[in-house]
Amino acid sequence: MTETLAPLAARPRSGAPKVSFVSLGCPKALVDSERIVTHLRSEGYELTRGHAGADVVVVNTCGFLDSAKAESLDAIGKAMAENGRVVVTGCMGAEPGDITERFPDLLAITGPQAYESVVAAVHAAIPPAHDPHLDLVPPQGIRLTPRHYAYLKISEGCNNRCTFCIIPHLRGDLVSRPAGEVLREAEKLVKAGVKEILVISQDTSAYGQDLRYAASPFKDREVRAKFVDLARELGEMGAWVRLHYVYPYPHVDEVIDLMAAGKILPYLDIPLQHAAAPVLRAMRRPASQEKTLERFAAWRRAVPDLAIRSSFIVGFPGETEADFQVLLDWLSEAKLDRVGAFRYEAVRGAVANDLPGAVPEAIKDERWHRLMAHQQGIAARIQKARIGRRLPVLIDEVGVGTARGRTKWDAPEIDGKVHVRTNWPLRVGEIVTVKIEATDAYDLVGTAVG
Ligand code: SF4
Repeated sequence: MTETLAPLAARPRSGAPKVSFVSLGCPKALVDSERIVTHLRSEGYELTRGHAGADVVVVNTCGFLDSAKAESLDAIGKAMAENGRVVVTGCMGAEPGDITERFPDLLAITGPQAYESVVAAVHAAIPPAHDPHLDLVPPQGIRLTPRHYAYLKISEGCNNRCTFCIIPHLRGDLVSRPAGEVLREAEKLVKAGVKEILVISQDTSAYGQDLRYAASPFKDREVRAKFVDLARELGEMGAWVRLHYVYPYPHVDEVIDLMAAGKILPYLDIPLQHAAAPVLRAMRRPASQEKTLERFAAWRRAVPDLAIRSSFIVGFPGETEADFQVLLDWLSEAKLDRVGAFRYEAVRGAVANDLPGAVPEAIKDERWHRLMAHQQGIAARIQKARIGRRLPVLIDEVGVGTARGRTKWDAPEIDGKVHVRTNWPLRVGEIVTVKIEATDAYDLVGTAVG
């Protein structure tokens, strides 16, 4: 969906046209941004660091929570103040009313995944430099993440209808990319130096359902659009492969075998949201957390080093103190390595807003603090057991005599870090062995030993 708001007069220019790009929101939005930037770079556009020197600013917004919307509106306001020629895209663009009310002079607004519309709006604002010999784009595209890791989006949209979520409304039902296409992109990333591939989507374990798991060509073979087949092929590429947004369905057992064989990372990011059956039912999520515990136990028997990450919502409408206690008890049993918690926020358009039993903000806050403190004790015990181990660590940042990196159990940005002391210079993207000497609930500290 595109909405053009102001008549566009293309700006005269000297040299390459310049775009300033702001990318907000989740890794999925980041992948959208990378596609847009890759396209613009292929046409000779330059990226600027600040808005002031740009011919046009593109803001990729996030509209999932009200706090994310506020951040998006701030970013648009900054772009308008510093530049004044602004194209808005992303989740908030799907319902442009809030934006146009505050910023009637935007050049254009497009919805999520509307790559062509964003590019067309940029063309209208400042035409591309025409140079048929222009070849500014490396084959793997332009990535906004550091060179040694990259997100790989395998599908768009979602067939679930969780009552707190408007993503299916914003992004539509599940649309999976053919396996061959995903694998070719992954191959290019690895050839370009990527050491870690982070597989993302709204619901990774549902991958391929919409395609009826149809096979597509990759190299000399046909690969089915099935979660396990895709993971198996990715596991042969020589990079770390990390799976995000997986649901604990029975067929996930098959990727556990790949983890046991060391083909993909022993890591699963499973957004469970709650543990109490009445809350899960109100959320319209599968309500069988006992089964989930059994499944976790079986997975850990097969892969003792498996790290499970999850996220939870506290203060969902109707959540009682007893429900919340069920969640704490469940966490004590589940012993998750990493937990993210969110206070329930009413998202405009979400079905959950009309549910009875709104939880007062003060109680949400109190429960959030209790959950975090509870989980901190669990995570600290897990971390402590890692002292003395020699672990492979992927280096993210380097300093003099120090570096920061991550173990196989830690995804960038959301999980912990390893603070590394070293007697020799390390390189970003290198995997080194680190002896772990100290820890807290989140991070590890150690010395590079090889
Ligand atoms: S699984 Fe639920 S929370 Fe996740 S995108 Fe789909 S509807 Fe939203």
